[in-house]
Amino acid sequence: MAIQANLESVAADIPAGRKLIAVSKTQPPEKILEAFQAGQRAFGENRAQEMAKKFDMLPKAIEWHMIGHLQTNKVKYIAPFVHLIHSADTPRLLEEINRQAARANRIIRCLLQVHIAEEETKFGFSAEEITELAGSEIVTQWGNIQIEGLMGMATFTDNTAQVRREFRGLKMLFDRLASTPLPPSVKMRELSMGMSGDYKIALEEGSTMVRVGTAIFGERKL
Ligand SMILES: *Cc1c(COP(=O)(O)O)cnc(C)c1O
Repeated sequence: MAIQANLESVAADIPAGRKLIAVSKTQPPEKILEAFQAGQRAFGENRAQEMAKKFDMLPKAIEWHMIGHLQTNKVKYIAPFVHLIHSADTPRLLEEINRQAARANRIIRCLLQVHIAEEETKFGFSAEEITELAGSEIVTQWGNIQIEGLMGMATFTDNTAQVRREFRGLKMLFDRLASTPLPPSVKMRELSMGMSGDYKIALEEGSTMVRVGTAIFGERKL
C-alpha cells in the first residue's frame, strides 16, 4: 500500500510528458511487482546481474533502465533487453555496448553521463569530452547504438542553489548540443536528472526523466 501511495505522490509532482523511473536497486522482486501493479512500468537498476535476474522473474512489460556505473564485462548480461542505458561514461563502454547490441541484433539506446558534481567520485564525461564525442566520426561507426541525450547527478548537498546551478549547467550543455548539427545516431531528446532529494529542482531546470528510489520504496537496507 505504501508503495502505491508514494508513487501517486511522486507522480503528482511530475508534469505531463516527463518520465518517472522508479529506482528499484536492492529492492526485492515483490516490491517491484507491487509498483508494477500500481501502474509503474519503468524501473532503474545499477547492477547488471541484478537487473538480468529481475528481468527473468518479472513481467516482460517492464522497461529496464541501467542507471549505475556499468563495467564493460557486464554489458552482455543486459544487452538483450535493456531499454535505456543512462550511464554511458566512456568511449570504451560505448564500444562494448555497440558490440553486444550487434550480437543481440538490436539497437541499444544510451544517454551520455556528464560529470556535473563537485565530488570527485562521480563518473561521467566532461562537457568538453561530450561536445567532442557527439560531433565525432566514431559515433557514426557505432551502428547499434542510438544516443538519446544526457544524464547527470548533482552534488549530494543541502545547498539547493548549488544543485540548481549544476542542473542548469547540464541543461545549457544539452540545449547547446541540440542546436548544433549532430550525426543521425545522436539526438538530444532526453535529459535524465533528479533523484528523491532533488527531482523537483531538476524538473524546474528542464529534466525529462527523474530517477527516484527512496521516495517510492523507502530507505534502502543495503
Ligand atoms: C540510487 C540512484 C538513484 C535514486 O536515488 P534515491 O535517492 O533513492 O532516489 C538515482 N540515480 C542513480 C544514478 C542512483 O544510483
